[in-house]
Amino acid sequence: MISPVLDTLNRPIHDLRVSVTDRCNLRCAYCMPAEVYPEDFAFQPKEALLSFEEIARFTAIAADLGVSKVRLTGGEPLLRRGLDRLVGMLVAIPGIEDLALTTNGLLLPRFAQALKDAGLHRITVSLDSLDPEVLRRMSGRAIDPGEILEGIAAAAAAGFKTIKVNTVVQRGVNDGGIVDLARYFRGTGIALRFIEYMDVGTMNHWKRGEVVPAREIVERIGAHFPLEAQAPNYRGEVANRFRYMDGQGEIGVIASVTQPFCGACSRLRLTCDGQLFTCLFASTGMDVRSDLRGGEEDVALRERVRALWTRRSDRYSEERACVQSARRGKVEMYHIGG
Ligand code: SAM
Ligand code: SF4
Ligand code: SF4
Repeated sequence: MISPVLDTLNRPIHDLRVSVTDRCNLRCAYCMPAEVYPEDFAFQPKEALLSFEEIARFTAIAADLGVSKVRLTGGEPLLRRGLDRLVGMLVAIPGIEDLALTTNGLLLPRFAQALKDAGLHRITVSLDSLDPEVLRRMSGRAIDPGEILEGIAAAAAAGFKTIKVNTVVQRGVNDGGIVDLARYFRGTGIALRFIEYMDVGTMNHWKRGEVVPAREIVERIGAHFPLEAQAPNYRGEVANRFRYMDGQGEIGVIASVTQPFCGACSRLRLTCDGQLFTCLFASTGMDVRSDLRGGEEDVALRERVRALWTRRSDRYSEERACVQSARRGKVEMYHIGG
């Protein structure tokens, strides 16, 4: 690896999120509302998507600049055919120590074993409620929580040791079920991560009043199952972690709105069509696909990415705390991948 690359706020590059598709088999109202994204919505055509070879090539360049953690996301990443082949390519890249996947879990019964065999290290499954009615409303599809729980069980059966569950909490929508989720996953070895509802993209009509502050989530769960704060595992850990005092595991809260963590943000994000973003709330990315397809040498592309990072000054969530009006024209969540 060459010398660490720091941005204008002294933040190094550590992680890369790769969105492998913008398609999804759900229509979560906070991400890809069904009324805006009908079945026949014009998602990216196949030829616009980065190939696995292009993704692997870019990941190797990012590893050279300091990336050691990669997360595959989407859209729904398991809709991308042959994802296990990409997993195998990415884990073979020198410097990539941790490869994770975020999925809605519906297709895990079909693919968990192949992903494990290909070398995927960790899986995070999104599940917003155990209440069928609430889940149907939030996911925009007639699914049952049992289908997602089957996906989690399939991941465990395939041998994944680290499985997490992501829950986006929206006041008045699913916050009534957070204690039930905590009760369900306590003692299972699966860590819940409650995420404050964010104003990503432009389609979800986000209102601050719908955010349930992380502190309140911890208090509500702690009133039933006493919790104590844990020290971070590493600098820049996004989740604040709490352990159950009776030893039944831990939960985490991701307080992106009420306690922004831009100061330690070390993430690059690559969209499925090859745009590179340095912030979840950016409006434009760097067109990496043209470079990858236009005969650019790896060294030249690496220098372009280094220049992008050294110019970086993003701190949207910290600014959101002071600026009332939301920025216009932000990239959508299903496109950038969370
Ligand atoms: N389809 C996969 C899934 O749902 O896990 C991966 C992509 S999804 C965009 C990644 C994560 O972003 C999910 O855990 C989802 O709940 C979260 N997410 C989407 N929109 C969000 C929002 N407005 N606020 C907070 N989290 C959000
Ligand atoms: Fe699909 Fe994930 Fe977005 Fe839900 S959060 S619509 S599952 S991409
Ligand atoms: Fe990172 Fe941007 Fe989120 Fe701040 S707002 S933590 S800079 S992605």
